[in-house]
Amino acid sequence: MTLSIRGFAALSETAPLAPHTFTRRDPRPDDVVIDILYCGVCHSDIHQARNEWHNSIYPMVPGHEIIGRVSDVGPQVTGFKKGDLVGVGCMVDSCQHCASCAEGLEQYCEEGATLTYNGVDRHDNLPTYGGYSDRIVVSHKFVLHLSPKLDLKSAAPLLCAGITTYSPLRHWKVGAGSKVAIIGLGGLGHMGLKLAKAMGADVSLFTRSPGKEAEARRLGASHVILSTDSAQMKAAVGQFDLILDTVPHQHDLNPYLPTLSRNGTHVLVGLLGPLDPAVNSVLLIHGRHSVAGSAIGGIAETQEMLDFCSEKGITADVEMIDIGQINTAYERMLKSDVHYRFVIDMASLKTA
Ligand code: NAP
Ligand code: ZN
Repeated sequence: MTLSIRGFAALSETAPLAPHTFTRRDPRPDDVVIDILYCGVCHSDIHQARNEWHNSIYPMVPGHEIIGRVSDVGPQVTGFKKGDLVGVGCMVDSCQHCASCAEGLEQYCEEGATLTYNGVDRHDNLPTYGGYSDRIVVSHKFVLHLSPKLDLKSAAPLLCAGITTYSPLRHWKVGAGSKVAIIGLGGLGHMGLKLAKAMGADVSLFTRSPGKEAEARRLGASHVILSTDSAQMKAAVGQFDLILDTVPHQHDLNPYLPTLSRNGTHVLVGLLGPLDPAVNSVLLIHGRHSVAGSAIGGIAETQEMLDFCSEKGITADVEMIDIGQINTAYERMLKSDVHYRFVIDMASLKTA
């Protein structure tokens, strides 16, 4: 039995997303079949739908912030049963035997993790399709448990925006006394503010948008720095142990580097591509600063993050949309008009 699926897809890099019917594989013995309830909208969905990373496969069904209910499990599935509320993030498989996978860092799988969409399944070589759809089939190893304490709609963005900010905050050992700055108040940025604050850090926001100050403070920032104001940038020199940079496009890192404290690190999570302009090494050497990158988080760490959020009462601030509004949502994200994550109510597929 091949599963017939309803979803929304991009058919080319210039086409708006539109209704699309496709099939998913017969469930394998270790698979969980999930009825999708909600799916968050990540800026990566725009990059991928529009082939901005030059590796897009069409038709493409985006979506990697998936919340749903288990409708079936294969005979080898452990830990999940029909009716469970679950999450799926950016990966659905990995080689399971390299050093990274052995450490639970499947996102750094040496053979390449299988992405939830715009990937190729490593067993049947068929393309993967994401969460802008009514059902998904995923190996139980890549399905996450959701605490009943989490609000389902606003938990969806934790599966990508949450883990992508949580993982570097943990890796660079953010805790009480840390001084952290987030660049960009969008989906990732607002989760970065909430999570760093919950870990005990003093958190600041760099934004190029005047008028985000009150919102940033509500979300956990104690300082807001307008990055276009050189006086405000100068006043921030030497402050931050960690800068988490969520900006999706090319931008100049050099103005931010002097705001690092000695040994401070500027972590890129937003931009995938060359730095232009280049980083001036004087700004690294002076102060022993680092520029680093970080990708999502492993499955065990994603579960840890979900449990941390449940314990601390953290979810995303979301604006619910119907799937028919997805193209408008993309345009609004490109104008930074998102507060702070769009989440699609997948019940709307029935009428779209
Ligand atoms: P988003 O919701 O659109 O937010 C991005 C924010 O960055 C904007 O709200 C804006 O904040 C700021 N910004 C946008 N364009 C800018 C520019 N040209 N210069 C300076 N600032 C700019 O995006 P998102 O969903 O958070 O995703 C952010 C990036 O992370 C995307 O590129 C996405 O692909 C990437 N990502 C990476 C990973 C990973 O594993 N590393 C995982 C998920 C997503 P202000 O108005 O406050 O300036
Ligand atoms: Zn994402």
